[in-house]
Amino acid sequence: ALTAGIVGLPNVGKSTLFNAITKAGAEMANYPFATIDPNVGMVEVPDQRLERIQALIPAKKVVPTTFEFTDIAGIVKGASKGEGLGNKFLENIRQVDAIVHVVRAFDDDNITHVADQVDPVADIETINLELSLADLDAVDKRLAKVTRAAKGSAEAKAELAVLEKLKPALEAGGAVRDLTLDADEQQVVKGLFLLTSKPVLYVANISEDSMADPTQDHYFQAVQTYAEKHGAQAIGIAAESEEEIAELDEADKQEFLQAAGVKEPGLDKLIRAAYRLLNLETFFTAGGKETKAWTFLRGTKAPQAAGIIHSDFERGFIRAEVMSFADLDQYESEAAVKEAGKLRVEGKDYTMQDGDIVNFRFNV
Ligand code: GDP
Repeated sequence: ALTAGIVGLPNVGKSTLFNAITKAGAEMANYPFATIDPNVGMVEVPDQRLERIQALIPAKKVVPTTFEFTDIAGIVKGASKGEGLGNKFLENIRQVDAIVHVVRAFDDDNITHVADQVDPVADIETINLELSLADLDAVDKRLAKVTRAAKGSAEAKAELAVLEKLKPALEAGGAVRDLTLDADEQQVVKGLFLLTSKPVLYVANISEDSMADPTQDHYFQAVQTYAEKHGAQAIGIAAESEEEIAELDEADKQEFLQAAGVKEPGLDKLIRAAYRLLNLETFFTAGGKETKAWTFLRGTKAPQAAGIIHSDFERGFIRAEVMSFADLDQYESEAAVKEAGKLRVEGKDYTMQDGDIVNFRFNV
């Protein structure tokens, strides 16, 4: 499964956020795994469409899809030179598919900040510089190899051109994800597994007072401005409060949120943002034993989507009967959707769409 890694300087609230995620996950009605890596937190993906589908096509139970976060221990200045277990952190970041970059955006004199002052944008830049330097190191190593090979091979020559484009950007402290690259260049970059090519989401750990409206918080504003400049998204989360919220039962949770003037837990916003960051979408199977949400990577074809449910479904795939959630929502029953001519039969070349409600037909 694709996973988003929680990254940040020490003492910014990463563990607190990760605990909130783990606690929310522990509350899951359908926790699918008995034991799990302690660094991996599993959460349900909140999706209001499930309730609507259940109301229209009742099933015995409703099962949301899940999403994984990986906790990555605190990265420090100098990590790219191996300081403070630097190499291990960087290696852990290399394993994840997207980066959730947490910065401290709350004042609290009792909690030391590694740089002695709260400055979320400076923190972002500190870490991003380490990631750029680590990538520069990787690019330099690769350059040494490829330069020799480039004389004899067109492929190596093409890679060399890409590496020469990446190097100055990284030397300037930039990120590979910020470069404009064509499809071929992107293909080369993919094979390099660079840290700064991973999609990133900035999370400002704001004070409880700012929960109701993070946009009024000056630390959050600074993070958002930085993120926008780099084509990234920023969200404000009060990690400590989220941890408390995650422990409450549903009724108390609603009360807490209402008192704080918040519509939904920040964690839900984070889950959805990370889901989008990874290009993940959802299809549904509905009715009977269970109505269930399933995660797929944007662009997945119908047989491979069937394979997410069971490998036999992919092997024996015949066709998919599909209606969109929007159509079910509008016509309010499968029969009415069919009558309106909106129930489609799709073959093996069909690209799954977010919100598809599917019945796969297959040979066993
Ligand atoms: P990590 O090193 O990044 O994992 O940071 P921790 O999650 O261990 O948090 C460092 C300290 O900051 C702990 O004492 C937390 O209780 C505290 N902390 C975390 N989030 C908040 C917050 O939103 N507000 C306040 N006041 N303290 C927080």
